[in-house]
Amino acid sequence: MRRYNCPNCANEVHFENTTCVKCNLNLGYLSSADQFNFAVADSPSGSDASRLELDCTNRNLIGCNWLVQPNDTSPYCTSCRHTLIIPDLSTPQNIDRWARLERAKRMLFYALLKFQLPLPEQGEAPSKWLRFEFKADLLAFNGQQANVMTGHEGGLITINIAEADDDVREHHRVAMGEPYRTLIGHFRHEVGHYYWDRLVADAGQVDQFRTMFGDERIAYPEALQRHYESGAPLGWERLYVSSYASSHPWEDFAETWAHYFHIVDGLETAQSYAIGAPTPSGGVYRGPYASKNFTELINAWVPLTIAMNAMNRSIGNSDFYPFVLSDAISAKLQFVHNLIHHSDA
Ligand SMILES: [Zn+2]
Ligand SMILES: [Zn+2]
Ligand SMILES: [Zn+2]
Repeated sequence: MRRYNCPNCANEVHFENTTCVKCNLNLGYLSSADQFNFAVADSPSGSDASRLELDCTNRNLIGCNWLVQPNDTSPYCTSCRHTLIIPDLSTPQNIDRWARLERAKRMLFYALLKFQLPLPEQGEAPSKWLRFEFKADLLAFNGQQANVMTGHEGGLITINIAEADDDVREHHRVAMGEPYRTLIGHFRHEVGHYYWDRLVADAGQVDQFRTMFGDERIAYPEALQRHYESGAPLGWERLYVSSYASSHPWEDFAETWAHYFHIVDGLETAQSYAIGAPTPSGGVYRGPYASKNFTELINAWVPLTIAMNAMNRSIGNSDFYPFVLSDAISAKLQFVHNLIHHSDA
């Protein structure tokens, strides 16, 4: 994640900010320009006809801090317009949950835009339209609880809003033995399933995918059930970036995809703060999101994680990065890298 500055006073503005902490002006992020500009809503003078961008309609309700181009057909920002179903807002806590989900989703869209990945909107074939629904478990008429499964199907990504509660998410993380369980991790994983359809299945890359990840035609529900009952096979760490990735080739791909996003955004953050910044090997370095050189990315990432782990141990925290990138895992990450950058290199 990059660092930004206030357009009025040049003070630092963080990606989540809606106001400048120094001059108190209301600000919004303009994704098309990758910068912060003045916002309209909440500003003392109200609407300013001279400005070019509008606030996202979700700004007042959930604090969405993205701006919309005036010629846009949607009153919602590039991220919010992909949300199809929101939780029942008559439950007050659901506004906070939805706000936390959209905050993580804006981080996802930041990355998708920087990678210049296709973002099909309404009007495309339904299976290609990338859309999200945020739902709560419900009591059905028969008194049974109807659980919402977080997942992806045919372009629709469903997130159980209970995952927005830190205590629930931490409970699941411990129960599943996961080192990480975060909202941004969920979004990066689920969107990996969506882009498997676009960049692997639709793009004729299935054979190459199978050579690397295995045959995805093995029965999916049975594979997941086996994983939840027996866990990952012994020695999974050599082949998979997470225990869950060993459950099925699709899950392996989504976990690897999410991990690639972690690496690239982590590197962009490090570069923005001039920590362990990768040294360009020549030419103009346009940042990790544009970097076509996979080896350069990994060579910058690994020493950074070793240093960050040491930092965390110094203050008694658990490791920042409890992963080891084996050759097999790196090859899968490179497969994802090549898909994103349309390169066979
Ligand atoms: Zn300012
Ligand atoms: Zn928005
Ligand atoms: Zn999955």
